[in-house]
Amino acid sequence: MQIIEFTTDKRFVRRARALKTIETMVRMYCRGHRHEGCAPLCSDCGALFEYATRRLERCVFGDAKPTCKNCVVHCYRADMREKMRVVMRWAGPRMMLRHPIMGIAHLMEESRPVPRLPAKSAKSRSATKDGR
Ligand SMILES: [Zn+2]
Repeated sequence: MQIIEFTTDKRFVRRARALKTIETMVRMYCRGHRHEGCAPLCSDCGALFEYATRRLERCVFGDAKPTCKNCVVHCYRADMREKMRVVMRWAGPRMMLRHPIMGIAHLMEESRPVPRLPAKSAKSRSATKDGR
């Protein structure tokens, strides 16, 4: 079995880009709030980013993934979802100033059509629900 990194493989370009955007926003948030021990992320923000990376790796849509905001599947745990929502709301407008190209690219992603969940993966998803 061949293992490939989704962050570097060309087939996963959209998720790699989404991850980069999330990383940038979490870093801005962590630094902006002067969290303890940012190198480059404090342990809390680091854990949030780790979690986001795992969710993205396992996204049921693969690289057809919509932006998380528009997604019909809520794959985040409630507490992580809330944390990420706070980070995004804070970093969103700031990213437009600091990283306008990344910000605009993300807005364009958001205007893309949102895929619906195929019936098959809906079933396998509920089977693995406890593995979060
Ligand atoms: Zn932090």
